[in-house]
Amino acid sequence: MAEAVRHSIDSGEHLAVQAGTGTGKSLAYLVPALRHAVAEGATVVISTATIALQTQLVERDLPRLATALSGALGRAPTFAILKGRRNYVCLNRLHGNAPEEPETSELFDPFAASALERQVKRVREWSSETETGDRDDLVPGVSDQVWRRVSVTAKECLGAHRCPVGADCFAERARGEAGRADVVVTNHALLAIDALDDRPVLPEHDVVVVDEAHELVDRVTSASTGELSASAIKLAARRCGRAVDQEIADRLDEAGDGLELILTDARPGRLDELPRDLSGALSSVRDAAAACTTALGAERREDTEEGTARKLALAVTEEVHDTAVRLIDTFGEEVGERRDVVWTTAEPNRAPTIRIAPLGVGGLLRERLFGQRTTVLTSATLALGGSFDPLAQQWGLPPRQQAQPAADMALDKEPPADSTGPKWSGLDVGSPFEYQRSGILYLARHLPKPGRDGLPAEYLDELTELVRAAGGRTLGLFSSMRAARQASEQLRERLDTPVFCQGEDTTSLLVSSFAEDPRACLFGTLSLWQGVDVPGESLQLVVMDRIPFPRPDDPLASARQQAVDARGGNGFLSVAGTHAALLLSQGAGRLLRSTHDRGVIAVLDPRLATAKYSGFLRASLPPFWTTYDPELVRGALRRLDTSAGTG
Ligand code: SF4
Repeated sequence: MAEAVRHSIDSGEHLAVQAGTGTGKSLAYLVPALRHAVAEGATVVISTATIALQTQLVERDLPRLATALSGALGRAPTFAILKGRRNYVCLNRLHGNAPEEPETSELFDPFAASALERQVKRVREWSSETETGDRDDLVPGVSDQVWRRVSVTAKECLGAHRCPVGADCFAERARGEAGRADVVVTNHALLAIDALDDRPVLPEHDVVVVDEAHELVDRVTSASTGELSASAIKLAARRCGRAVDQEIADRLDEAGDGLELILTDARPGRLDELPRDLSGALSSVRDAAAACTTALGAERREDTEEGTARKLALAVTEEVHDTAVRLIDTFGEEVGERRDVVWTTAEPNRAPTIRIAPLGVGGLLRERLFGQRTTVLTSATLALGGSFDPLAQQWGLPPRQQAQPAADMALDKEPPADSTGPKWSGLDVGSPFEYQRSGILYLARHLPKPGRDGLPAEYLDELTELVRAAGGRTLGLFSSMRAARQASEQLRERLDTPVFCQGEDTTSLLVSSFAEDPRACLFGTLSLWQGVDVPGESLQLVVMDRIPFPRPDDPLASARQQAVDARGGNGFLSVAGTHAALLLSQGAGRLLRSTHDRGVIAVLDPRLATAKYSGFLRASLPPFWTTYDPELVRGALRRLDTSAGTG
């Protein structure tokens, strides 16, 4: 992998590398990256999806490598971490410039207001001790609502030259350090913003390594998703009210009320046409926001408090305006030509919202990422159904690349068949695990297909028997929170095994309780896998209740599926199939975390054994030994339980 990354950096040909747990993939890209940065005086950006990996890189891998490589490179390489501005506490806001007006609920609830004040005070105390000002270093953390009051977005920031505390600003300091470092570690969101925005937020760099690259499309989609709700519009109106004629701000506030009325009556879901009343409401929001922006005017001589208040108002009002324009304009295009998808949502405890997201991000990545710099993408899961094609297509790279086995290095490969796009190669470096010997994939072919109304009785019986045979030690990954709770309740009644369920405490606490007690089970939704890294005897069975296809009413997935169908492709397989394959593979990846681990992946949904598409999904899973025989699996689990010494 290190050789292939070096070749990619030297040749400018992009590279996708699948590298399983335990391969040491971070070292394999960091070594050539550091060498390139030091030799060329260039900066390499490493992007991650999770804080856990970011921490591992900055606190473990990079410091060790900096020491180990300093002789060979002639000096110790340097590194820094850089996040979005909103991640750092803003000293200007913290010291009272333009404090936020209370949200309506707090106006009526003095307890909520004083709890909020207490938390802001804690952040203020912490700000004088912290070296970084980074929200992730504040333990225990504070709510999003509090953090919004003590931080700013890039657009809300006054700019270091105008800001009275710019010289001490944490975000500016992090940017400065990143600008001088050989390697900058960041997250996919900031990488996406850097690619999307015309103003760069990352230091100039010529190579990007995207680790946890299976998350890239989702993170870029999130960064380019816009939304409008009455609460966002009213916040803009409140902020404008402090800086412009109240009448002008009131118009925006009323436009927010109008939109709320219509969204409350709307059925949540995708919008292929813009209803007339919604169109009218959006136009009112757009015009009222434009009037506020004009009234707020350009930068001028004013004191810091006025300047901060105006900047805060301008940033949110422009955001409201631009989103309203984007929403209205998208319906001006023919359905087949549209690049955005629009939908409305009604979530508990949130104002009804209208959202807009890109149909695909491939074009953007191709132009703004692959077109600008050499990119290495890596993850434990990149080859789905045995090929990099499904993900390459989503990234905007030309298809028809096979995942090369490690022995066949990607160095002198033929260019891709479709060579009109950026050149790239794919490499699968495999895994240190002996999957055939260490794990069993059990497909419960005899069970009924999953239904709509919770877990069928047969699933609960099967799950009970599996957990009983395994003596606990089970991670249950369910397709919904409802199913996870149903399974938890049932198993608590039927067995005396402790069952922890996601949501009953913080995930990290549940995971550590689960890891400490081999007789315990941990149940949650499929998203839970991200927090679970439990090697050893506490985790010997991973159960998944159903193939994790996106919900049929998922607005973005259904629109993407239709768009592929319209182009003559197989929308179901390339959108829903790819989504399910990624999640299945990541879920299954929880089982073996060290070369000594043994265990069973059980999938209760019989479609993984019987459906036409099952071959693609199964080819995305590690090559476990596969069986349909429940008694055989229970026997294997009982033996594992006994040999673990606690059976
Ligand atoms: S420079 Fe921007 S982020 Fe930093 S303290 Fe000033 S306003 Fe806040």
